[in-house]
Amino acid sequence: MDIKQKIETLRTELHQHNYQYYVLDKPVITDYEFDQKLKILEKLEEEHPEYFDKNSPTQRVGGQVTKNFKTVKHRERMYSLSNSYSKTDLEDWVKRIKKSISEDVIFTCELKYDGASINLSYENGEFIRATTRGDGYEGDDVTHNVRTIKSIPLKIKNDILPEIFDVRGEIVLPFEGFTKLNAERVEQGLEPYANPRNTASGSLKLQDSAEVAKRPLDCLVYSIHAENLGFNSQYEALEELRKIGFNVPKEVRLCQNLNEVFSFINFWDKERYKLPYETDGVVVKVNSFTHQKTLGHTSKSPRWAMAYKFKAEEVKTKLNKITYQVGRTGAITPVANLEPVQISGTTVKRASLYNADQIKKLDVREGDTVYVEKGGEIIPKITKVDFSKRDPNSKPTTYIKKCPECNTALKRDEGEAIHYCPNHNSCPPQVIGKIQHFISRKAMDIEGLGGETVTLLVENGLINNYADLYELKKEDIIKLERMAEKSAQNIIDGIEQSKQRPFEKVLFALGIRFVGETVAKTLVKAFKNIDKIEAAKMEDLTQINEIGDRIAESVIEFFSEPTNINLIERLKSYGLKFEIEEEVQSSSKFEGLKFVVSGVFENYERKELKSIIENNGGKVVSSISKNTSYIVAGNNMGPSKKAKAEQLNIPIIDEIDFKNMIDDE
Ligand code: AMP
Ligand code: ZN
Repeated sequence: MDIKQKIETLRTELHQHNYQYYVLDKPVITDYEFDQKLKILEKLEEEHPEYFDKNSPTQRVGGQVTKNFKTVKHRERMYSLSNSYSKTDLEDWVKRIKKSISEDVIFTCELKYDGASINLSYENGEFIRATTRGDGYEGDDVTHNVRTIKSIPLKIKNDILPEIFDVRGEIVLPFEGFTKLNAERVEQGLEPYANPRNTASGSLKLQDSAEVAKRPLDCLVYSIHAENLGFNSQYEALEELRKIGFNVPKEVRLCQNLNEVFSFINFWDKERYKLPYETDGVVVKVNSFTHQKTLGHTSKSPRWAMAYKFKAEEVKTKLNKITYQVGRTGAITPVANLEPVQISGTTVKRASLYNADQIKKLDVREGDTVYVEKGGEIIPKITKVDFSKRDPNSKPTTYIKKCPECNTALKRDEGEAIHYCPNHNSCPPQVIGKIQHFISRKAMDIEGLGGETVTLLVENGLINNYADLYELKKEDIIKLERMAEKSAQNIIDGIEQSKQRPFEKVLFALGIRFVGETVAKTLVKAFKNIDKIEAAKMEDLTQINEIGDRIAESVIEFFSEPTNINLIERLKSYGLKFEIEEEVQSSSKFEGLKFVVSGVFENYERKELKSIIENNGGKVVSSISKNTSYIVAGNNMGPSKKAKAEQLNIPIIDEIDFKNMIDDE
């Protein structure tokens, strides 16, 4: 088999495995086997950039950065749906339909997936573009981001559909992924996202597609748009879409009459909480395309479809007490402790009250009867107070003024909704939380040491901050309750090993407010060592892409605290890494190769690219000739260069291909 064929075969195979895993949920090979195959493909593609394909399974990891999303006109307008809230509304709708159509009308019932609408364009069997709904006439081109969503087929084999078609669906973030994402954010000291829908639509607008690739987004497909479709109904369309590889939820039903529609609605009104993603209603559509055509559209929505909105499940219960939690950064969260109550199959005892403004807005008080709402697995929230049940002697809630854990006066920054306890260095939950963050997997990843042991160490006065970890002795640890000698040794070893963690992990571990994993990486890349970060002024920080005022202020504040400087000095003295290790990669892998570098790059300075090429034995030449081996092209490569390269058949690679070539062992 020649290389090209080998690459093609692997791609087809991996596309199929993605489909098995992400659409059918029935993988036929292990994750490990999948990764191995993907690695082989990556390697082949690196060695042969001439066979590059933007729709290769290797491109799902993302990496392209979009600064401004281009506006694109939809081939066909994306309409809204009319809404109905009762069965009478639906009956009226059907009566209107019957006025224009005398034949029997049958319906499809689909769930109304609650996410972000997306239009996927295909040409000649290839995925070419993804566009948001926008104003219905034109939307944003979010192709790079959407390509990372594994349940969307990038290649399509079919004999039925025309060469050009659009598919529409809803991008959702299933609960499981949403919960995991939020757990990670909390661990990083970031505010959790409020709900899956906004997180899904926010994800589509992230600049870095590699970030999007990390989010377990899914695309639930509900329609196809093209000229000359080979079938004549919505139900057949969905079956066809499913057959060629799209994720079309299996809950869809064909209903012969309105009664069947009502049973579908009644069933899913209760059962929808068991679905892995959010839904907010049912969409009823006239099944026949001929009927659809007869009915047509209003200025906003099709007359042949109707959304029926579910009511969010709401129950009443008593609010017994408002308590306040202190997080690792000192942020205070008010919590409503409720008389336990059943909502959509689970017992709810607590609901978040978010902040002081929310309490004021709801005018919620201890002893009140409140309405609690819960959708799927989202944290329950209080939507309103039943004022008719209020004790006439009750007084408005006064927000606490002092920290419930250490009694320090709380602060609230201008423009921020959250109160916090400023006693960062000795407020117990903050002290413990900071050390727990420091040792966590994504930070210093100290093996053998867990969050509960940290609590014990602090409570027993053995440590007060993360620097103290490095002075712990085995003899001290053994004294802790139920601590075996072996476990104590493991902790000591784990702490010792953590000294090898790279600077970006250390910086993240310090627990600077708003400095999560990604920001830490950005800062490390921009400043190279801690002294430069410490010396940075507001302008130095904010001129970096992705560093806004809020982050910059927080960094400055952190380094203006003598206690923090002292901690860093101690960590330095124990041997932790506080600068980037510039790995000068040198090899002879480019021996004999000539490169032309053209355009502007996202991740490299031109100078840097050139020295990398030279360090690896290659030559950089300024003009293209038939002796040129590769052209490394960034944005805005000159058109004449491009034409010449094409004429001489010289492979043009982008910076990602280039990086892959370098990183290749
Ligand atoms: P609305 O935004 O309320 O006008 O509702 C229209 C939107 O519902 C569409 O743009 C779709 O993104 C979304 N939607 C969710 N599920 C479906 C479905 N099964 N069929 C059609 N549209 C759907
Ligand atoms: Zn406190």
